[in-house]
Amino acid sequence: MHGLPIDLPQMQPGWVWLVGSGPGDAALMTLAGYGALQQADHVIYDALVDQRILDMAGAHTVLEYAGKRGGRPSAKQVDISYRLVQLARENKRVLRLKGGDPFVFGRGGEEALSLVQAGIQFRIVPGISAGIGGLAYAGIPVTHRETNSAVTFVTGHGTTGEVPDGIDWHALAKSSPVIVAYMAMKHLHQITTRLLEGGRRPDEPVAVICQASTSSQQVLETTVARAHADVQESGLQPPAVVVFGEVVRLRAGLDWLGAMAGRVLEGDPLGTRSKWETG
Ligand code: SAH
Repeated sequence: MHGLPIDLPQMQPGWVWLVGSGPGDAALMTLAGYGALQQADHVIYDALVDQRILDMAGAHTVLEYAGKRGGRPSAKQVDISYRLVQLARENKRVLRLKGGDPFVFGRGGEEALSLVQAGIQFRIVPGISAGIGGLAYAGIPVTHRETNSAVTFVTGHGTTGEVPDGIDWHALAKSSPVIVAYMAMKHLHQITTRLLEGGRRPDEPVAVICQASTSSQQVLETTVARAHADVQESGLQPPAVVVFGEVVRLRAGLDWLGAMAGRVLEGDPLGTRSKWETG
């Protein structure tokens, strides 16, 4: 990349960088991440990393998929951490590439702690998380002054594979005006049931955003009561983020991707007149 007015950080041999690749669209990766891809000797990447991002790696860079190694169906977390340590000890510049942000439901913390235990130096390069950037690509702001001054990010999938019991869904239903759920497709029925029990309105708007920011992005607008059935009927598949809350209504005005495809946007989707009109 030429003409950048900043110096990108340099990868040192024996270091591991944990880098977020963003939600999907290759152009959403950070400059630091892009620079690292070109410098790295060895990249270990996850399933959600787009091929076009891998295509940006340097000509000498070895690309290794963390999902399948040594003929096994999926690499265990300890294996990945061990592999990172091993490569760093071989004095490689190691790039651990993860979808979204490495510290958001990405087990980046665990991997970084293993590096600390092994005495390996590391750097974290944040990425745009699907729960923020993915919503932006659906035309949904995570916060909006007239609807919410708080947002909660939750995982719909616990370490045991069930709906996480560590989350007090009833309290969340009462306290968090906007809830953005990662990994929520499998247990959507239980999640919506718990939110309804906790007092969420059945007709509260919900959006399910699949493969956000990729060319296959699909967005389903539904309600808390209908979400599960509508997802079943639509056949939509993960990866998806599910957003609960009034901010979903803003999509009628802010679906900029839809507008590029001819959708006519509403200037006042919440039914409130804007300041410049009233003032
Ligand atoms: N570290 C990632 C999250 C990893 S967990 C991040 O910050 O985005 C994997 C979950 O992320 C998926 O099950 C899905 O809920 C969400 N996700 C990741 N990429 C996505 C995408 N392009 N579209 C929709 N959801 C996505």
